[in-house]
Amino acid sequence: KTTQEIQSIDNTHHLHPFTVHHELREAGPRVITRGEGVYLWDSDGNKILDGMAGLWCVQLGYGEQELVDAATDAMKTLSYYNTFFQTTTPHATRLSQLIAEKTPDGLDQIMFGCSGSESNDTAIKLIWYYWNLQGKPEKKAIISRERAYHGSTVAGASLSGLPFMQGIFDLPLPRFHHVGPTPHYYEYGNSDESEREFGLRCAKAIEDKILELGPENVAAFAGEPVMGAGGLMLPPEGYWQEVERICRKYDVLLWSDEVICGFGRTGEWFGCQTYGYTPDIMTMAKGISSGYQPLSAVAINKRMSDAIVNADSEMAHGYTYSGHPVVCAVAVRNLELITEKKLVGERGQATSEYFLKQLSLLDDHPLIGQTRGVGLLGGIELVKDKTTRERFSPDGTAGVTCRNHCFKSGIIMRAVGDTMFLCPPLVITNDEIDELFRLVRISLDLTLEELKP
Ligand code: PLP
Repeated sequence: KTTQEIQSIDNTHHLHPFTVHHELREAGPRVITRGEGVYLWDSDGNKILDGMAGLWCVQLGYGEQELVDAATDAMKTLSYYNTFFQTTTPHATRLSQLIAEKTPDGLDQIMFGCSGSESNDTAIKLIWYYWNLQGKPEKKAIISRERAYHGSTVAGASLSGLPFMQGIFDLPLPRFHHVGPTPHYYEYGNSDESEREFGLRCAKAIEDKILELGPENVAAFAGEPVMGAGGLMLPPEGYWQEVERICRKYDVLLWSDEVICGFGRTGEWFGCQTYGYTPDIMTMAKGISSGYQPLSAVAINKRMSDAIVNADSEMAHGYTYSGHPVVCAVAVRNLELITEKKLVGERGQATSEYFLKQLSLLDDHPLIGQTRGVGLLGGIELVKDKTTRERFSPDGTAGVTCRNHCFKSGIIMRAVGDTMFLCPPLVITNDEIDELFRLVRISLDLTLEELKP
């Protein structure tokens, strides 16, 4: 079929996530047909460097034959079976063991789902179930942060701190609370406080919220190690240690949403390891299978698992595809390959150093107010004025302009407001990083030309 034929069918039948559909119809969806390594091709034959690893997930790059083989073998042997009613499959069992080996000490029990949002729904129920088993059913409030993104199911959107996802749906659900300031010094820090002082102020806001709700009512605090889709915001130094201390002080479970940060993205297996804190519960997805199969997982520590595993009541939660054998087989091979290729370890570290160095070289560009990054995550702030940090407009038009120039120049960057994101596959080489930043610079120059003619 031609590009136009696919676009016409798509316009007639396909509803897209997070999309203004009349705009999509006017522009016509870009039809992506093939991927190899860090590159994608569209239906008109254009080659595009994927600076976003899909949606922050394709750790191993596209077309990894070993994952194709893992899926094929598993599907031939056992195309489906569930893990309900006292059954399991070797692939689900092996994957739970592999994940438990990588999580911080004690987070050894794993429950599977199909998406990051689902894993967050699961976490909420495990947390509530746990406190019920402890004889504290009133401990139900969950605190998260303004501008957090934790998914788009009813619970995931409630947990997220993004009002545009909530108002029209009558969300958040009761018991979900959001605190600010968001720990992002560039935007919310005061000129008379250091980054560390600012981080402590952000953590104090969490403590204040716990005290306002009453610690006896607060079940958990949830946060992404690095806040991703809300704007790629790196935690101030000392912030997570203080949050951990506060959670322990008031007996509030600490929940790390590792959906973006997990599986090598921040340099370690998990973001909480990069930032030096130990959660009670972790949720993960995306890089767990390099996006080749829909998969997510929740890991809980011994404190929670002892209560749950020894309970007399049935844990009334789970999905048809929890621990799907084909999906788990792909994830097992994915984690083995991340290890074998040292993407967490020597190679990952060297790639990250090179990537962050090249990212920082963009600082001299007239459009850029700040670059920031960790591991293989990068954020770029677009501003009209470098010194005052004034934006082009309050509604993020520079971001969209830049994103469009990127795509035309053969690179994918994502924009949220006027923040551009980079999150390339972990297998990217230094030559490909050079190419990536060459294309980023071209796109920035074109954006500048359009915005400041
Ligand atoms: N949590 C975080 C931190 C995310 O970034 C995302 C998605 O980007 C989710 C949860 C939701 O994951 P999914 O889109 O797989 O439901």
